Amino acid sequence: MTFSIHGLAVARGIAIGRAVLVASSRVDVAHYFIAATEVDAEIERVRSARDAVVNEIHRLQASISHMGPKEAPQELTALLDVHLMLLNDDELSNGVRHWIKDRLYNAEWALTTQLEVIARQFDEMEDEYLRGRKADLEQITEKVLRAMKGVASPVVVAPSRTLRKPSQQDLLLDDTVDVPLILVAHDLSPADMLQFKQSVFAGFVTDVGGKTSHTAIVARSLDIPAVVGARLSSQLVRQDDWVIIDGDAGVLVVDPSPIVLAEYGFKQRQGELERGRLTRLLHTPAVTMDGQKIELLANIEMPEDALGAVLAGAVGVGLFRSEFLFMGRNGRLPNEEEQYLAYRRAVEGMQGLPVTIRTVDVGADKPLDESQQDNAHLNPALGLRAIRWSLADPAMFLTQLRAILRAAAHGPVNLLIPMLVHAGEIRHTMAMIDRARVELDNRGIAYGPVKIGAMIEVPAAALIVKVFLKYFDFLSIGTNDLIQYTLAIDRTDESVAHLYDPLHPAVLRLVAQTIAECRAQGKPVSLCGEMAGDVSLTRLLLGMGLRSFSMHPAQILAVKQEVLRADAGKLTAWAQQVMADDEPGLRMTRH
Ligand code: PEP
Ligand code: MG
Repeated sequence: MTFSIHGLAVARGIAIGRAVLVASSRVDVAHYFIAATEVDAEIERVRSARDAVVNEIHRLQASISHMGPKEAPQELTALLDVHLMLLNDDELSNGVRHWIKDRLYNAEWALTTQLEVIARQFDEMEDEYLRGRKADLEQITEKVLRAMKGVASPVVVAPSRTLRKPSQQDLLLDDTVDVPLILVAHDLSPADMLQFKQSVFAGFVTDVGGKTSHTAIVARSLDIPAVVGARLSSQLVRQDDWVIIDGDAGVLVVDPSPIVLAEYGFKQRQGELERGRLTRLLHTPAVTMDGQKIELLANIEMPEDALGAVLAGAVGVGLFRSEFLFMGRNGRLPNEEEQYLAYRRAVEGMQGLPVTIRTVDVGADKPLDESQQDNAHLNPALGLRAIRWSLADPAMFLTQLRAILRAAAHGPVNLLIPMLVHAGEIRHTMAMIDRARVELDNRGIAYGPVKIGAMIEVPAAALIVKVFLKYFDFLSIGTNDLIQYTLAIDRTDESVAHLYDPLHPAVLRLVAQTIAECRAQGKPVSLCGEMAGDVSLTRLLLGMGLRSFSMHPAQILAVKQEVLRADAGKLTAWAQQVMADDEPGLRMTRH
């Protein structure tokens, strides 16, 4: 029966395909297709990992066998028995074998898929005790996944499985044809999302998350339809269900009827036609009707994204979120050489166009890895995040600064510092940059010049922007956090997503003041939060005097279209009126 789940629209477009449920695991799980020749090796990988866990439990049982009930309570021995029973369960091993053999899923993916299937059965059990065994099943799966980590095979997408869009006929008549896969999960970390960049999914849905959570941001950079905050979707959707993601409306349609399918198929084709039309603007300079030149820059997460940025018509990178190089590495940070090579790849990839590299911004909803997640503080967004973390670990920070300075020898680089608030932090940061240069001089290593900029993403920073301009060559407004901190709305929490409002007058005032002060002092200012790529806000930002926008490459042409149609001079007075409103959102919808 067709039903729909409403969430938050994250990345535009329509995706139609089969649901792949990903069990929320605390272990990073790779998802890729293997070649048919790798099936036996992959089955063996799961088997030996499972055997390792079984042996570990046997060892534990032996070591506690001579203990009294005080040291080894009965519950523990019973628990170990249950774990062994689950590990030896045929349904688990047969299911895993099925996903590997018949679907060519890699071992980890097969295991988590089968976990999901069995977990559903546990959920439906009447007996409370048996229902409670689901947690044990999750625990042993996690143990097997961890055991497998040491023998992981490389992430590849098997050429035997190329994705093609199915025709309506395929969808209605033939279930065996290769169809797009839609990932459905309770939650995905930004690092998970990054892993999916190399994967085959045609769309994403998560139960939780806000529109500007980093998970959503990476989904947007993949430029495939995505919906977050679609509560309960991972419980209501079943493995292999047909689903439609409407990334524009933020809706997930499950088990669509033929009429609904046809309707969305039509919408999907319309969207593609519209995108095709926009490519005509690729080489058109972004100039308003009254002759104002507008700079459209790209936000990237990995050096490899630089090529996509150039192809999308970006005139530079306005934000390279360097933290993605640091994530999911089990606590091992990239050394200077690794970082230098990565930044250099981005710089060379941009072919002479400027690259703004932001120093690491971990913490909040971007944990480095599972261990940092475990140690999460009560208020991670207000904790040791971004520059605070960098200044607290000078060796790590200096390593990154040296790597960025060295990359600057290969092309124009701007250095951007996130989350600064205090003048003291600014001075400390500047001293560290000087020190990094001295260290390179002492080692006789070449480096290049950099312009140094600060993110304005905390209200306090926006309110003392004059202080910032004493030190910095340019500023970049991070509205994702500026909104979060101004309105006290957690950007990752879907339960308050309706209050996360870029058009709140307080937010607009802080943005406008920052732009005005930079313009008055002749210093470059850009906006790199998600607002920059939102076409419904382009005219307002132009009216506020913004001339530089940094966004996901996929948004550049749509924003350019708005720019070409705008008369910036005429928008100034209107923008003033919007900002003076109690509820600017209302005037914007009428405009
Ligand atoms: C922002 O806060 O607007 C920003 C661009 O940084 P991030 O989204 O990475 O926090
Ligand atoms: Mg930010």
